[in-house]
Amino acid sequence: CGIVGYIGQNDTKEVLLNGLEKLEYRGYDSAGIAMLNDNGLNLFKVKGRIAALRGYVNNTIYATMGIGHTRWATHGVPSEENAHPHQSASGRFTLVHNGVIENYQDLKKEHLSDTAFVSETDTEVIVHLIDKLYGKYENTAEAFRQVISLLKGSYAIAMIDSEDQDNLYVAKNKSPLLVGLGEGFNVVASDAMATLKVTDQYLEIYDQEIVIVNRSFVEVQRLDGTVVDRKPYTAKIDA
Ligand code: GLU
Repeated sequence: CGIVGYIGQNDTKEVLLNGLEKLEYRGYDSAGIAMLNDNGLNLFKVKGRIAALRGYVNNTIYATMGIGHTRWATHGVPSEENAHPHQSASGRFTLVHNGVIENYQDLKKEHLSDTAFVSETDTEVIVHLIDKLYGKYENTAEAFRQVISLLKGSYAIAMIDSEDQDNLYVAKNKSPLLVGLGEGFNVVASDAMATLKVTDQYLEIYDQEIVIVNRSFVEVQRLDGTVVDRKPYTAKIDA
């Protein structure tokens, strides 16, 4: 299980696929990527390895932001439906998740009794909750923070709002996650190995932190919304 994300000036496909290949050692029963451009969200998921995903992704799609996932199933069999990224019922929000949401059944019962689920994953609860709370707050960052505050368990999450090509929404608890800094782009990865090709400058993210990742800046927040000042370090690993 591993996640990768990119937001920048160049095409996102290669960064995502190369990154996922480097993360495959963490789990590899299925994989997927989502890329946002002016035509909307472009979603590709396969059961199997990154090589299969690479063959399936439409090479003519150009997008400058996206998220990717390699899955090691904990809830639901390895299948295309259960592969990440997962989408909210409205189609507006799309996310990848590593880890296990321990209270997903409670959250489902309490908040999503009227929602139709398409996968057997614990993950899908998160993205439908974003839809729900977006309806209440009409602000994606606020809905994201409120939903993350409801989760119990382990997670590294990266989310796209299809109405916004300028931000990725990221959160972490007990699953690894780093943010990599570049000139005019930023990346997100479970392991610096995934993105060392594009940057060696990383921000460590701590448990129960949220990160808003833009092309030109990164804002780390606590769950109460307070902004955290975090200095980057230089990753020294032979890629
Ligand atoms: N629990 C999630 C699932 O089963 C994520 C698994 C993972 O970390 O790859 O889909």
